[in-house]
Amino acid sequence: MDLKAHIRPIPDFPKPGILFYDITTLLLHAEALKEAVDRLATVVRPYKPDLLAGIESRGFIFGAPLAYALGCGFSILRKKGKLPGRISAHEYALEYGTDTLEIHDDAVQPGQRVVLIDDLLATGGTLAAGARLLRQVGAVVPAAACVIELSFLYGRSKLDIPVETLVTYD
Ligand code: 5GP
Repeated sequence: MDLKAHIRPIPDFPKPGILFYDITTLLLHAEALKEAVDRLATVVRPYKPDLLAGIESRGFIFGAPLAYALGCGFSILRKKGKLPGRISAHEYALEYGTDTLEIHDDAVQPGQRVVLIDDLLATGGTLAAGARLLRQVGAVVPAAACVIELSFLYGRSKLDIPVETLVTYD
């Protein structure tokens, strides 16, 4: 199946000049959603994760069914101020300003293998921040996986782990 046929490009979102790849149309299509999760399972399984870590919020959508498919647990990396327990945080630079990802300190046991999951790799800043935060709480991070890669932004060059992606726009 051609997953790209179910991803909707939307010009000028969230601001003029940006072409946004909308995955809500893929989610609406039962076979495309199943295909995306099944293909992610195939590429992530060889890393033998103990846990997956989904990045808020579209990383949760793909990450949770993927964890179910792989038979592993699921941990969440959230934006600032959303998690109720003891947390660790990592602030990272955006094009304008900064953002912060947080994780519960007890969401990962030291030495556990945790694969990061998000919907899309653009500049790589989000996955790089996620990997740093996971390592901060003791995880081993063997890889990350996303449905979409915008290869013209060279996000991989920001990362010291392999990133598995299903469709590429260049
Ligand atoms: P990066 O940090 O790699 O520059 O940006 C990736 C993050 O921004 C991901 O969490 C992703 O959800 C979001 N993102 C950036 N551009 C797009 C886009 O065109 N489509 C979608 N679905 N997410 C995007």
